[in-house]
Amino acid sequence: MTSSQLHINLQAIAHNYRFLDAQTGPSTQTAAAVKANGYGLGMEAVSTALYQAGCRLFFTAQLDEGVRLKAAFARQGYDGAQIAVLEGFRLADLETYQAYHLTPVLNSREQAEWLAAYQVKKQSALPAILHIDTGMNRLGFGADSHVFLSDPSHILHQLELSLVMSHLACSDDPSDSINGFQLEQFTRLVQPFSHIRKSLCNSGGIFLPSAYHFDVTRPGIALYGAMTDPDMTDSRLLPALRWDADIVQIRKLKKGERAGYGGEFMAKTPARLATIAAGYADGYDRALYQPNRGIVAKVEIAGKAVPLAGRVSMDLLIADVTSLSDSEIASASKACLIGAHYSLAEMAQDRQTISYEVLTDLGDRMTRLYDGA
Ligand SMILES: *Cc1c(COP(=O)(O)O)cnc(C)c1O
Repeated sequence: MTSSQLHINLQAIAHNYRFLDAQTGPSTQTAAAVKANGYGLGMEAVSTALYQAGCRLFFTAQLDEGVRLKAAFARQGYDGAQIAVLEGFRLADLETYQAYHLTPVLNSREQAEWLAAYQVKKQSALPAILHIDTGMNRLGFGADSHVFLSDPSHILHQLELSLVMSHLACSDDPSDSINGFQLEQFTRLVQPFSHIRKSLCNSGGIFLPSAYHFDVTRPGIALYGAMTDPDMTDSRLLPALRWDADIVQIRKLKKGERAGYGGEFMAKTPARLATIAAGYADGYDRALYQPNRGIVAKVEIAGKAVPLAGRVSMDLLIADVTSLSDSEIASASKACLIGAHYSLAEMAQDRQTISYEVLTDLGDRMTRLYDGA
């Protein structure tokens, strides 16, 4: 049995939560985005650690995720956590929201009308979050809805709202002028909701001036120790992930022998290669071996960074361990794929993507091991 293991450091996630919470004033609550299985790290375990660190408001993307999280909290006897579902809903979903005490996010007039009708039918209130789009143009009430947002007779104002939120498009770039524009739009559009709490910031927004912070922040990626822009990753955030994989074979190559699909690696000298039990089916992107474009990812074996040797295959990687000594090779049973030598942010950069995608690509068949639980 060989495998690949994700070591998830729950203490690091709790530390990051407290660090982010400390970046805003005492009256600003820090919520957590745990959508997409807690950014690939395991929604239940991550949320449990966050709850223990003091988090009481959780955002999932989909209704199923919210139901799963509610069940996990119930199993542990954790009360008082509010779980909001970002995606919006159909009328038929509202029974589920109510049954599981989940908070629907209103993204359109139609949804406001459905919720109002549902409440009349049930003769009971189902608190909701109002999502206003202030310039991202993706989801939520558009700025063109200000006419009825500000009309006190509109049905929206008869609903019980626990939060009014918007989402920043470019918070990872403090110099982008859209940040100020969205803040201005938000401040204007929320005026009719003076008694309701407000939320604008994701992770990046927390590092913008305090005028952005309002009553609730909603970090995701920073909780997991990364930021969109690797240069912005604050060294005070702790990495939450180490990815290890078993070494399954060591082999010797003569000069001129090739390795991997397409024989793309060629030994320029007699070489030694290590075969490692992880591949693109686990979320290790094939784009990490493109020597003709200068991209060759490193893995760490026996405490030393060594380069990949040959294309990434579905279940296996090959690394060039020629630079290691016999005893180093003999002593090594694992390779570290994401860790101190090669961070999540570096892997994201080599893949020309963002750390979010590296995390959510992490496969289901790997063992997730929780340290500091
Ligand atoms: C994903 C998401 C967040 C968290 O964003 P990060 O950039 O990961 O901090 C916050 N709010 C909304 C609406 C989201 O979709």
